[in-house]
Amino acid sequence: MKLRKYILTVIIGITAMTVLSSCGNKENAAKEQPAQSTQEIFAMDTYMSLTAYGNNSEEAVNKAVQEINRLDAMFSVGNADSDVTKINENGSGEVSEETAFIMNRAMQVSEKTNGAFDITIYPLMELWGFTTKNYRVPESNEIAEALKGVSYTNVSVNGQQVALTGGSSIDLGGIAKGYTSSRVIQIMKDCGIEHAIVNLGGNVQVLGTKTDGSDWRVAIQNPASENSYLGILSTADKAVITSGGYERYFEQDGQVYHHIIDPQTGYPSDSDLTSVTIVCSDGTTADALSTALFVMGLDGAKELYRSGAIDFDMILFDGSKVYVSEGIKDTFSTDMDKEIITRQP
Ligand code: ADP
Ligand code: MG
Repeated sequence: MKLRKYILTVIIGITAMTVLSSCGNKENAAKEQPAQSTQEIFAMDTYMSLTAYGNNSEEAVNKAVQEINRLDAMFSVGNADSDVTKINENGSGEVSEETAFIMNRAMQVSEKTNGAFDITIYPLMELWGFTTKNYRVPESNEIAEALKGVSYTNVSVNGQQVALTGGSSIDLGGIAKGYTSSRVIQIMKDCGIEHAIVNLGGNVQVLGTKTDGSDWRVAIQNPASENSYLGILSTADKAVITSGGYERYFEQDGQVYHHIIDPQTGYPSDSDLTSVTIVCSDGTTADALSTALFVMGLDGAKELYRSGAIDFDMILFDGSKVYVSEGIKDTFSTDMDKEIITRQP
């Protein structure tokens, strides 16, 4: 894993050096461009794949990779110079516009999900060893202590000024990849790309349709097996973002401990769902919602969908049945036992 990460880092380094400074560069326009360009990289602790079609696709993908590395450095809790590390160390300070934007969006989702999504979860991620991969099951008193600083109401964002009270510290891991996929799509658009698909470790976002005008077909992974799918979603211009306990976890004494923490208990969420996929035109919101709905469980997810407080569609799985929201009932095909969640109960 480490070697693979290293090799990929080298590839990214070489790619970054050859990237041109701006899209539409004349010299570059004159050069013949391939009709399709793909790159696979390792960033944000996950494998990513980016494909763009049409003229300028190679440049678009190169620029997108650069952007991913820039954002990774800005949001990573593992980087001593990141906005997030500085805020966690100092308790307050100025962050980039982008970090402020993500924090604001995170707060909106926290409010609409009664705190099921909460970026102040960081002390618990550390306690359970998810930040260092030195996993362990903490003592209950340690969890109680860490929970004291967990509340999104301790976060304030004023323009680019951010402050954390109550000893809180933050982790943008539940929302950063969604923002990143949105930025990647925007960069591709700026490069004149009309058809693209990016997959940031299971977080998919598509631009336009396929080149033949038909919808993209996005397979939703079955959490029970890497090689099987819950079904296929036909879609265009959407983020399709999945969260599940199966993505990152450790086992101890036959018990599985995963990385989605219930901010109420401090333990991995004891959700009745095994997978949550959000379909939404906004990648940032989709990512935060996928984590939140996992914590909220089936009833909470239904309630939020029906409230209309946020515009999204969803595909939920509880281990045996797939629940599909009304808005995508005709575009999601599955062979599994299925229930449609209507807007009106
Ligand atoms: P993935 O990172 O696998 O795509 P998620 O989008 O669900 O999955 O994000 C999980 C990450 O979000 C965790 O690794 C952690 O950084 C953070 N996190 C965990 N629980 C919560 C929570 N309740 N609210 C906000 N962020 C969380
Ligand atoms: Mg998420």
